[in-house]
Amino acid sequence: MFANNPDDTPVNVCSAIVAQGLCCGCGMCAGVCPSQYLGVQFNMYGELSPRPQPESVCSGCGLCLRVCPMSEPSPPTDRIAAELAPQWGQVSPDAVLGFHLRYLVGYSAADGHRANGASGGMGTWVLETLLAKGLVNAVAAVGPGVIPETGAICGYRWCRTAADARACAKSAYYPAELSRIIQYIRSHEGRYAVTALPCAVRALRLAMRAVKCLRERIAFIVGLTCGYGMSAFAAEYVCADAGGNPWQLHEITFRIKQNQTPSARVSLIRCVSGQRTDGEHVSLQRSDEAFGKAGGNRWFTRRACDYCDDAFAELADVCLMDAWLPAYLRDVRGNTVVVVRHSAVGALLDEAVAKRDITLADVTRDEAVRSQSPLLWFKRRLIVERIRSARKAHAPLPTLRTDLYRDDLSPLEAAYARVLMHMRDASPRAWLDSGKDPVAFRRRLRAPSLAAGLLRKLIRKGCRSCSE
Ligand SMILES: Cc1cc2nc3c(=O)[nH]c(=O)nc-3n(C[C@H](O)[C@H](O)[C@H](O)COP(=O)(O)OP(=O)(O)OC[C@H]3O[C@@H](n4cnc5c(N)ncnc54)[C@H](O)[C@@H]3O)c2cc1C
Ligand code: SF4
Ligand code: SF4
Ligand code: SF4
Repeated sequence: MFANNPDDTPVNVCSAIVAQGLCCGCGMCAGVCPSQYLGVQFNMYGELSPRPQPESVCSGCGLCLRVCPMSEPSPPTDRIAAELAPQWGQVSPDAVLGFHLRYLVGYSAADGHRANGASGGMGTWVLETLLAKGLVNAVAAVGPGVIPETGAICGYRWCRTAADARACAKSAYYPAELSRIIQYIRSHEGRYAVTALPCAVRALRLAMRAVKCLRERIAFIVGLTCGYGMSAFAAEYVCADAGGNPWQLHEITFRIKQNQTPSARVSLIRCVSGQRTDGEHVSLQRSDEAFGKAGGNRWFTRRACDYCDDAFAELADVCLMDAWLPAYLRDVRGNTVVVVRHSAVGALLDEAVAKRDITLADVTRDEAVRSQSPLLWFKRRLIVERIRSARKAHAPLPTLRTDLYRDDLSPLEAAYARVLMHMRDASPRAWLDSGKDPVAFRRRLRAPSLAAGLLRKLIRKGCRSCSE
């Protein structure tokens, strides 16, 4: 049991995490709460967060805090990874990449995987293979379609067939939460796989430590590298910038491949909005336009992401990411870097390579790290300034691995980190205050955007590896 709040109400994630601005929206707390006290809803800023449910009572059991990836104190990610290492196989530790068996790069040769995947289609291949081999009964992946409980336009859904898994291909830069998935696993025996971003992977591992049936039933976790999680406002902004109606956004599809782009980094985003009866507005926009600018400036990202230092989903059985490496950028068909941890996943990959179902080559450790250098700069270097600012303001922080970060930021880097924090903080309010008009919104954030652009240029001049 945890001590009560000063007003004698029980401490739970609502007071200890959400009210402190630390929630990443993973939904795990609501998935495990034995009193059904928590339900996940969108807040006024387009972020998913748990909320007390009417007519239910919190018993103060503290389980939500034990499974919350942002709860402090909870074990640091590398300590949990060290506990998992024996079950993974002959893994080696690495301070940046986490434990690993091998690093590979390539793509799935199965019909449609690569063309429909975000990068090399390896995510869909892994999920489909786990199902086909009977290693799991179902996989939880993120795909299109309204989630009735929250009104989200995409989210977690169960896949039991190859066709289901294929319908969930690509990356959803949109809030996705696990509560319904966890409730289902708790009440249905079976073996399951889950795809997840690093914070949700951490939540899954904490929940598996705390809840026996989750430990027994979650057989595989397929992690994705993650630079930042975005609120639903990011999707609205992209839709509005392409001439659509952000108040009536029905569908958004990221990472549509196009043959004519010069780089695998650039894809298309399709939005469908407007009154279904009066004709919908359908737009296609390049990812390096509104979306790229929003991500680069950290607009619509969550405060929790400011303190996230896990680039490679260190607690997942396998982690997938884009091959942002010079040798692969020109190949617009897409390639996935695969960090293998679980020996069973390694064996599946070996078998498929031998049968030419997939094409994979080894990459060096340095190449795997280099494929994520801008992300690592943000997560492992600029984090120092974000922590410093939080401590100065006496703001609460999640469990951190401060021994991993070198406190030698240049004044320019520190200033850049502060401008990004400011924009992360100001952007949701600015979007609302501008009436969801992208031009008015950008006007409101003009000064910090210009400052960030200037600082980026100055930093790039002094330090190429920081910004490439
Ligand atoms: C929010 C987000 C941020 C990312 N940031 C980076 C980054 O900075 N650098 C980088 O290299 N890669 C990043 N990725 C991963 C990258 O976009 C691809 O997902 C990865 O390369 C695998 O591509 P693929 O073609 O092999 O997989 P696919 O065949 O496309 O399969 C991807 C699988 O991931 C699932 N999925 C999609 N979105 C989510 C989600 N939000 N939560 C959980 N599961 C999901 C899908 O349902 C699908 O099963 C990010 C992904 C997301 C969703
Ligand atoms: S898990 Fe326990 S402490 Fe948390 S909200 Fe539910 S009943 Fe309350
Ligand atoms: S981070 Fe996840 S577990 Fe923690 S409060 Fe938010 S939704 Fe709940
Ligand atoms: S940056 Fe970290 S906290 Fe934010 S969505 Fe990605 S994994 Fe979660």
